[in-house]
Amino acid sequence: MATEANYLLVDIALPVPPRRVLTYTIPPPLREQVEVGKRALVPLGPRLVTGYIVGLLSSEPVSPPGLKPIDAILDQEPLLDHHLLELTRFVADYYLTSWGLVIRAAMPPGIDRGTIRTVELIESPDLSSHPLSVDRLIKGTDKLSPLQREILTMLQTRGRMDLSSLKRRWPAKEVNALIRTLVNLDLATLVYREHMPTVRPIYRSLLDLAADRAVVQTEIDALRKRAQRQASLLEHLLQSGSKLTSAEATAIAGVSGVRRLIAKGFIRRTTEEIERSPWEETAIATDLWPTPNSAQQTAIDGLLEGLRSRTFFPALLHGATGSGKTEVYLRVIGEVVRRGKQALVLVPEIALTPVTADRFRSRFGNRVALLHSGLSPGERLDQWRRIKRGMADIVIGTRSAVFAPLSRLGLIVVDEEHDASYKQDDEPRYHARDVALTRGRMLGIAVLLGSATPSFETTHHAKEEAYRLFRLPERVENRVLPSMTLIDMREERLSRHVLSRNARYAARDSPTPPLQNEGTGGSGGRGAPLIFSERLTDAIKKTLAKGEQVLLFINRRGYARLLLCRECGFTLRCPHCSVSLIYHAADGRMRCHYCDYRERPPSGCPQCGGIACGWFGYGTQQVEAAVRMLAPDATLARMDRDTTRRRHAYRQILRDVQQGRTQILIGTQMVGKGHDFPGITLVGILSADASMQLPDFRAGERTYALLTQVAGRAGRGDRPGHVIVQTYNPEHYCILAARNHDYEALYRIERPLRERRGLPPFGFLVLLLVASSHEGHAQENAERLADLLLERAASFPDRSRGQALAIEGPAPAPLYRLKGRYRWQILAKGLDPRALRHWVKETIALLPPSEQAGIEVDVDPVDLC
Ligand code: ADP
Ligand code: ZN
Repeated sequence: MATEANYLLVDIALPVPPRRVLTYTIPPPLREQVEVGKRALVPLGPRLVTGYIVGLLSSEPVSPPGLKPIDAILDQEPLLDHHLLELTRFVADYYLTSWGLVIRAAMPPGIDRGTIRTVELIESPDLSSHPLSVDRLIKGTDKLSPLQREILTMLQTRGRMDLSSLKRRWPAKEVNALIRTLVNLDLATLVYREHMPTVRPIYRSLLDLAADRAVVQTEIDALRKRAQRQASLLEHLLQSGSKLTSAEATAIAGVSGVRRLIAKGFIRRTTEEIERSPWEETAIATDLWPTPNSAQQTAIDGLLEGLRSRTFFPALLHGATGSGKTEVYLRVIGEVVRRGKQALVLVPEIALTPVTADRFRSRFGNRVALLHSGLSPGERLDQWRRIKRGMADIVIGTRSAVFAPLSRLGLIVVDEEHDASYKQDDEPRYHARDVALTRGRMLGIAVLLGSATPSFETTHHAKEEAYRLFRLPERVENRVLPSMTLIDMREERLSRHVLSRNARYAARDSPTPPLQNEGTGGSGGRGAPLIFSERLTDAIKKTLAKGEQVLLFINRRGYARLLLCRECGFTLRCPHCSVSLIYHAADGRMRCHYCDYRERPPSGCPQCGGIACGWFGYGTQQVEAAVRMLAPDATLARMDRDTTRRRHAYRQILRDVQQGRTQILIGTQMVGKGHDFPGITLVGILSADASMQLPDFRAGERTYALLTQVAGRAGRGDRPGHVIVQTYNPEHYCILAARNHDYEALYRIERPLRERRGLPPFGFLVLLLVASSHEGHAQENAERLADLLLERAASFPDRSRGQALAIEGPAPAPLYRLKGRYRWQILAKGLDPRALRHWVKETIALLPPSEQAGIEVDVDPVDLC
């Protein structure tokens, strides 16, 4: 309760690196408002930050010295209830991160206040009088590095920028050096600038009757003769029973008329929140509910039984692509809602959401809410508030929606549970599927994981009967799973020289980079890269001739993979990250896919001056160019991160394919995400190998999932689908397993490998990444941490079969340099997850704070490279 005046101190969870919860005093005027679950603005060093009240402490005779008072309470009502506080705290402990960061991830973005460090350029009134103006600095060559000049140019157009956003875009070292120079020259200052929430609820003012109907009627009669317009307004409000906006009311009674009616107490102003809706259009006519087939019915019955048990009920729905999993979700959710409970449906990515969301909405109407980052901040806030007020029965959302403020939750569905996007790749590094299971356990409800290609871990739990397993082995309505043909690209390459003569298109007519094109690798022949096998070329033409649609999958955006000199072996790399730059035809630049560094392609080899530089490998853009040559009349669309930056771009591309306007869709893994494209009968997987070669123990499972999911887009309509997979490893077990739709085969091969190495789900992992802009420091710190871990391992009781905690590494991270920082990694392993976490946490705590700050901790990592 807000009125307990004997509370003097509050515990605040802060969404910033000191991982602790800090205690503050409450100044008397704020005591009435203080409540657990509300936000507070508090001082932290020279800054003000938004934190979360997580505890109230009993009064003490005198307040302990050194505690600071909170500055303001930001909410009228708590944003977090007891359950969400408990859940976020559990998640923070589990992932060895700060509670405040997890709470912030659970909140709609943009609602906080605080101060941020900002660089502001100092305007000098007469630029020419200043010996070193910003302009001159940019043009001059001595003082600044090329990158610093780039940053300064940006700063000049904006006038001022947040330090954190500068450092997100450019290496911290360069930003710091530039700022030092500017401050020394009196050209810039660093200030703490207060920022307000960037998004708020919006309200409008409405006019409503304030008196009894009978009294109003009497007044209307009285006003009829002398104030006709006022009478009309009252009449309107009385008759319609609804409220009017100020503008509408003024149009009827005039400004003074409205004012007089308010003064006399017949009408009053009220405010009403306006909801910004994410829906493009109102719900389309209700869908018919298809009658479940027998496999679906068995799953539905089993799940309903689980719901009735009122205990934690984790289940896996393993169903082929197009087997009707979503129908099962819809049925079970229908039952949940009928019982007055709510359902949360998690989906991996925005690309999936519009279609799924429309389907839910056409069944359940307006009680469906959406929560994902594709919404505008205002829409997201309003959806969140709607959910918080209990106005949604069903929430569909991506990762962070797992924290949706639902108070009557009865079921959580995690669709495509294997998808790596459920794991957040920066702090807090939680996995939404695992948080969903935790939330389900805490609430004692059902959690349904669904996938055509379940993760190895989930499959294992289902096999061990920790989860109930339901299967939908066949596609609905007797549609067959697509047949898959493997093309051995090694053979294709041998016969390549014959083909290459007719296939020079890419080098001559298409919008190619200014250098010649080379083969896809090694000592391959000259000419265009080998993109299409003869078989695939044929199949594309035939499919188009039949009026059917084609999907082409390539797991790389951009034009070409790398620029390589055949004379000296030089490749053009990012100066800040250890990756090759990738050519983008759209702006004619080489780009880094990690830090977005860009530069013009060189005209010759920058190293040896030779002219034998050429492009190797290919991405979506080059495929697009090649397809235009192959099928000049076909309508085609490309779906990758470059073409889907605009807000509704996904929707438009997907709709054009669904409605048959696009004949060929080219895309990255985005195209494999559960879309229902009834007209696609041919899927071409241009290269199955890239994901298989990653140095990650999940590479096999990922490749299987990717192939199966992309292939699963074929033949979802009346006509059967066919898939052509091009590969240099046609005998690889995960490619064969995918072709045979045989997940068991993959599981049988991988299980002993994982068990032997103590990898998930048999053991647990924590990945530690030690980074520094100084190469030597990164290595030294990583080695020191590894030594310390080994030294301390013996003192941690591992309750599991006597097997000790262990580490792999330290080793340079697979992506060794990122945004100018050198990265080393250590993989900590243990069979007892609790002992493992304690060991890691307590060892890191022994290091000096500056070293701790350079360590990233990833519990249950899903990406090891
Ligand atoms: P999944 O989620 O497994 O990919 P969906 O639930 O999207 O499968 O089903 C694929 C298609 O089949 C959808 O168009 C859906 O409306 C339809 N469908 C699902 N179940 C049935 C059924 N029992 N009878 C007829 N059509 C069905
Ligand atoms: Zn880079």
